[in-house]
Amino acid sequence: MEKIRVTVWNEYRHEKRDEAVAKVYPDGIHSAIASMLRDEADLEIRTATLDEPEHGLTDEVLASTDVLLWWGHMAHGEVSDEIVNKVCQRVLDGMGFIALHSGHASKPFSKLMGTNSGELKWRESGDTERLWLIEPGHPIAAGLPEYIEIENEETYGERFDIPAPDELVFISWFSGGEVFRSGCCYNRGLGKIFYFRPGHETYPIYYRKDIMQVIKNAIRWAKPVCGPKPTFGQYLPNKQ
Ligand code: ZN
Repeated sequence: MEKIRVTVWNEYRHEKRDEAVAKVYPDGIHSAIASMLRDEADLEIRTATLDEPEHGLTDEVLASTDVLLWWGHMAHGEVSDEIVNKVCQRVLDGMGFIALHSGHASKPFSKLMGTNSGELKWRESGDTERLWLIEPGHPIAAGLPEYIEIENEETYGERFDIPAPDELVFISWFSGGEVFRSGCCYNRGLGKIFYFRPGHETYPIYYRKDIMQVIKNAIRWAKPVCGPKPTFGQYLPNKQ
């Protein structure tokens, strides 16, 4: 069986600067996510972080990544445009891209979304979140219940200024009254993109089996299909 090569990218700044975050993720969010994925026989996991040379995303790493997970928040602006362009090109060529939580404002996600701002409402008040799974036949829904409830999370609210998703898999409700499109699928070029909302750094979200099941399903959904390369431009008739 050929394994899906997954790179978990994290800016890894909150964990080093904020004691409350370090308590939840002592080795960083990327390590926690990686450790939750390592038991899966069909996945090959490695991590990369912002402060490594080339942000850990060298040409070799990108070329051998089937699905890239991205967690960023306070340092989006420090990600070099050169790397962002390479990441986006790999997505157009077929690499899967999963933007986690505040990754909605990351440079690669923004670039792949186009002209929309990606802005949203937010509030750190520990509201309860209920993620309703609204497409139970979608591959990302495999093995999941009708909804996932998180007792305490950061709130995000609509309007979420994104292009209409090609497929919307989750809608969140928050105890403060907001709703939010929390699981959004896009196709860009040959690549698939999934935005998944939960994962604020002060809550132990990525240790949850149900949340990680969504991420595992999304990785398997987003892996490259390796279809034919598209042909563009003037095209002569196919003679029999
Ligand atoms: Zn957050």
